[in-house]
Amino acid sequence: MALRTILTQGDPVLNKVAHPVTQFDQRLHDLIDDLRETLTDANGLGLAAPQVGILRRVVVLLNENDEMLELVNPEIIDQSGEQDGLEGCLSVPGYYGEVRRPAWVKVRAQDRNGMTFEVEGEGTTARCFCHELAHLDGHLYTELATKMYTVEELDEMLEQEEKEKKRKEGKGQ
Ligand code: ZN
Repeated sequence: MALRTILTQGDPVLNKVAHPVTQFDQRLHDLIDDLRETLTDANGLGLAAPQVGILRRVVVLLNENDEMLELVNPEIIDQSGEQDGLEGCLSVPGYYGEVRRPAWVKVRAQDRNGMTFEVEGEGTTARCFCHELAHLDGHLYTELATKMYTVEELDEMLEQEEKEKKRKEGKGQ
């Protein structure tokens, strides 16, 4: 296993469409193991193979129970509702953006041995599925974001909200 370098916005590989996986061999297993290790090291929620320069349809992500899911050739087969929230990306360090996503999605994928399975997610997990699968088609969340913030702006915003909350609590509301 090895840590791979995460490409950042501006690298043309991030805008390319990844190819389907057809060989469920040791090379695929090594790639998945490296993605897992790289995601854990970067302390992120999800990582797609194109982010480490490999144009294959492979994603790893953490669900709401902190279990790491491995998705090969994933597709969103159903979705419902919508949610607005903040999103970040290991390929766009230092920024967050406001993005609208479905509230719930169902994904069909294959595991590392080629077995097909389905998995559902809501909230952050649904958001993560959408975000990571978009990487496989060469899309970054920045294309969808209605508003972008730097980490500093976000910290300031959260601080203000916290102050506001305390002020209201102080008034017994
Ligand atoms: Zn991303």
